[in-house]
Amino acid sequence: PEDHETSCCIACARSWTTARRHVSYRFNRAMPKILLVEDNEMNRDMLSRRLQRRGYEVLIAVDGQSGVDMAQSESPDIVLMDMSLPVLDGWEATRCLKAGAETRKIPVIALTAHAMSSDREKALEAGCDEYDTKPIELTRLIGKIETLLGAKSTGESKTS
Ligand code: MN
Repeated sequence: PEDHETSCCIACARSWTTARRHVSYRFNRAMPKILLVEDNEMNRDMLSRRLQRRGYEVLIAVDGQSGVDMAQSESPDIVLMDMSLPVLDGWEATRCLKAGAETRKIPVIALTAHAMSSDREKALEAGCDEYDTKPIELTRLIGKIETLLGAKSTGESKTS
């Protein structure tokens, strides 16, 4: 009989499902690398600091084009994409990522200030895998990040 632990270890006290991913990150790879594409300095600094405190590695791009370039050169595990961006907006940048053989598998979460359903549809049409609205509620956003990372890692290495 499977006697599932309810937590990974005393130190992290994560749920079993999260623990499997946690352990696999720790042994098989570095902590998840998040590419944050955001032009607003205040939003960018605050969100990157909060994510780093949770243990994520955070890369920063300040416009859509550099976001696409960094996704290609750094292969992040996931992209958080502001939609309203200079040079290339978030929708165009996401279309570029989803058109690239190297980058199309990277999950993209769209971030917008407007809780409008038309924005949500527009983001999903552009190829975004998820959508969240500002102001960011960290627990909710991390839930979406972990769901996408979990789906990605079980797709890559299926154990038991
Ligand atoms: Mn913006």
